[in-house]
Amino acid sequence: MKDYETFSPLHITKARGSFIYHNDKPIIDAISSWWSKSLGHSHPDLQKALTQQLDALEHTILANTTNTTIEVLTQKLCQLTHTDKALFASDGSCAVEIAMKMSIHARVIKGQSNKTHFVALQNGYHGETCATLSVSDLGLYKEAYQALLFDCTFLKDIPYVTGINDPLWHDTQCAWQKSQMQLEAIKDKLNAVIIEPLIQGAGGMLIYSKDYLSRLAKWCKENDIYLIADEIMTGIGRTGKMLACEHADITPDFICLSKGITSGMLPLSICLTHDDIYALFYDDYATQKAFMHSHTHSGNTLASRVALETLTIFERESILNYVNKTLAPTMHNIMLEIAQSTQKLHNIRSLGGVVAADLKTTEPRAGYKLYQRAIEKGALMRPLGNTIYWLPPLNTDIKTINKLGEILLELL
Ligand SMILES: *Cc1c(COP(=O)(O)O)cnc(C)c1O
Repeated sequence: MKDYETFSPLHITKARGSFIYHNDKPIIDAISSWWSKSLGHSHPDLQKALTQQLDALEHTILANTTNTTIEVLTQKLCQLTHTDKALFASDGSCAVEIAMKMSIHARVIKGQSNKTHFVALQNGYHGETCATLSVSDLGLYKEAYQALLFDCTFLKDIPYVTGINDPLWHDTQCAWQKSQMQLEAIKDKLNAVIIEPLIQGAGGMLIYSKDYLSRLAKWCKENDIYLIADEIMTGIGRTGKMLACEHADITPDFICLSKGITSGMLPLSICLTHDDIYALFYDDYATQKAFMHSHTHSGNTLASRVALETLTIFERESILNYVNKTLAPTMHNIMLEIAQSTQKLHNIRSLGGVVAADLKTTEPRAGYKLYQRAIEKGALMRPLGNTIYWLPPLNTDIKTINKLGEILLELL
C-alpha cells in the first residue's frame, strides 16, 4: 500500500476493446486485465447477450433448478473439451478446489483412502485459497500460512522452451526421465498430478515442452493417477487452440476453466470431468456417495449467458484463426526485433497470444519501474518481477500491437 503514496491507483472511467481509459486517456490493456479479457472490454455482442438475459432471468439457485442458458453452455463446453459433465463455481481457485476434492473423494469411494498426495510442477500456480495454495510453488505467498497448508511434491527440472520451434518442444527424453524417477518413488500414495498445461502464468510466463506434457499425461493414465489440467489462464483460445491440452493431444481427468470464459465480464468458473468419475458418485441417496459441494453463485445465469456468447463469438469471428495467423506471429516478431535492437531482453518466448521476455538487469524492481513509465506512455504492462509480457485481448488489432512495441522500445 505504501507504493500508492508515490504511484496512486489508476482511476478508470471506461474501457473499450483493448483499451482502458484513465481520466479519458487511452491505455492499452496489454495483459487483458489479469488475463481475463479474451474478447476485450465492452464487446457489444456480449453486452447485448447480458441485457437479454437480464430481462428474462438473472439467476436462481442452481440446486434442483435448471434453465436453457446453463444447459446449452454445459453441452457446448463438454463438446469443446471432450468431457461429459460440468460443475460450476465463480472463481478459478474454486474450480481447482472442486477438482482436488472430487479426485480425493473418488479415491475414498474406490477404497484407496491412502492415495491422497498431490504432485505439481515447480513454478506452478493454481490459486490462493488454502488447498490451491498448497499445490502452488509460490514461496513468499505461502510462507505465513504453513499452518493451513498441506504437503505437495513439486517436479523439478521442467524442460522450458522458447516456443514450438524449440527442439525440446518435441523431445524431452532426458528431462522426463528425471521427473519419472521422482514420480515412481511416490506413486503408491499419489492421488493426482495438477498442472497448468504448457504455460505457467503467475510463475513468470514460462513455457514448457509439449512432449513433456504428453509423457506426463501418459504416465498418469498408465499408473491410474488423476490428471488435473488447470486451463484457467491457457484455456479459451489463449495458446491458439481452445485448450492448451490440445497441443499435446491429451485428455485430462479434470479440466478447470475461468478467466477468459466470460471475457472477464462476470465471474464464472467450471470444473469439467468424465462419465467414469461421475459414475463413482452416482448411487441412492442413502449410500452417501454424493459429491457435496456448493457455492451460492454457482453457474450464475448472467455469467453463463456471457460465457455462451463468448464461445459463439469465437466461432463467428474466427478468433483462433486470427490468433494463429496474425496476432501470434506479429507479437513474437516485434518482441524479437526489440530484443535485438536494444540488447536489453533475453529468453524471448511465445505461444499463441502470449509473448514474454526477461529484462537483462540487476536493478531492484526494474519491472515495477517499467510498469509505471509504461502507464505514462499509454500501456498497461504489468511485469511479473522482471519478466515483461504481452497477453492482450485475442482480437487486438495489429496497429495496437505496433503501438505496444513502440512504447516498449522507447522505455527500454
Ligand atoms: C488466475 C488463476 C487461478 C485462480 O483463479 P482466481 O479466479 O483468481 O481464483 C488458478 N489457476 C491459474 C492457472 C490462474 O491463472
